[in-house]
Amino acid sequence: MKTAILTVGTELLFGQIINTNAAYLSEQLQSLGVDVMYHYTVGDNPCRLRDMLDIAYKDCDMVITTGGLGPTQDDITKEIIAEYFGEELIEFSEQTGLLKSHFEKSKYKWTENNLKQAFFPKTAVILSNSAGTAPGFLLEKNGKIAVALPGPPIEMKAMFSKHIIPYLEKKRDGVIYYRIIRTTNIGEAALETALLPLIDGQTDPTVATYAKEGECSLRITSKRPTYEEAEAACLDMTARIRELIGEYIYSEDNENLIDIVGRILIEKNISISCCESCTGGLFAKMLTDVAGISKVFDRGIVTYSYRAKEEELGVKRETLSQYTAESREVAIEMAEGLFSKTGSDICISVTGVAGPEDLSPDKPAGLAYIGISYKGETRAVEVFRKSKGREYNRTFFAIRMINEIYKLIK
Ligand code: ATP
Repeated sequence: MKTAILTVGTELLFGQIINTNAAYLSEQLQSLGVDVMYHYTVGDNPCRLRDMLDIAYKDCDMVITTGGLGPTQDDITKEIIAEYFGEELIEFSEQTGLLKSHFEKSKYKWTENNLKQAFFPKTAVILSNSAGTAPGFLLEKNGKIAVALPGPPIEMKAMFSKHIIPYLEKKRDGVIYYRIIRTTNIGEAALETALLPLIDGQTDPTVATYAKEGECSLRITSKRPTYEEAEAACLDMTARIRELIGEYIYSEDNENLIDIVGRILIEKNISISCCESCTGGLFAKMLTDVAGISKVFDRGIVTYSYRAKEEELGVKRETLSQYTAESREVAIEMAEGLFSKTGSDICISVTGVAGPEDLSPDKPAGLAYIGISYKGETRAVEVFRKSKGREYNRTFFAIRMINEIYKLIK
């Protein structure tokens, strides 16, 4: 069933709220085997909403809207859908009763405009709202389906789960199953090239590559009549992918690299400490997100200033003045100093330029050095991303630290 998600609300267009409803619905519909073809967003404007419905139904059998179901003048979704389907809005007296009793029980004062929430297109099926007052509705007419859900995510999700999932389960013509394979140390373009024999001319399962924060993922998707068939097709494709790029795969189950690193450290009882400059503790934060890491994580020190690097880690003043703090030499002395202090099996350091400003032409934002001391032997790697984004760079550096540890212990 070809479907469009149409989110209604001027706040969405102004960027005042993030469109989480569209993301949620897409994910849910995918797993129900419903093909989401389009996302549309429109403000609280009757003409544009009408135009949007015209466009959406040209190619789709079902349009799911969120927002604009409330009692105020700018809540227009119901009216425009009714008009689009040539349906009159009529009062559903049962809804009027429910609304009035809801207001009697609550501290809110009844105002006449609330009555709007008891009017629906004549042939609509009402969808009760367990988390708010505005009910949604479902309308099937001339081979087209309209589903109107409220805007607030809590209400929308509750209504979707209670009414729409069972409805779609009865209608669906297949099941979609997907697996996410996560890779590291290979870029998206190289990954696609390596997998070209599988990606070229694919129908089912499909394989798509995605680049995100320092790594690439593969999504394998299959749509088959049953869950078992779709799962088997994806597992078979996973095995073929493993043959081609197995060395880069760190998870076939969409696990985070930090969780895997944490697990290996704990299983192998490898102790670890870190000292961070430009990431300001972000790496330690990521590591301590792993439950049980206290078994192996000794300490994390943020050594931001020259003085801290000298006092806490014994970095030499001459090294700092000769090479600057953002250097391979300092990264090595930081890791060595941390090893002398803690004796941890792995001592990892980071120092670099988070940005947004470049430090100098040869020390641009996005450049960092990671020092790794493993059982007393120390080396450093240079990492670089051409980016001025401070948050992005800091995250990138911390992820690369995780990566370096993974390469060491996998
Ligand atoms: P209400 O009965 O609260 O008026 P409604 O169906 O009329 O519900 P809107 O007024 O359009 O919904 O939106 C209410 C709130 O729901 C918004 O202020 C926003 O916080 C949230 N919301 C609306 N649409 C979205 C969306 N697409 N993604 C995330 N949140 C949303």
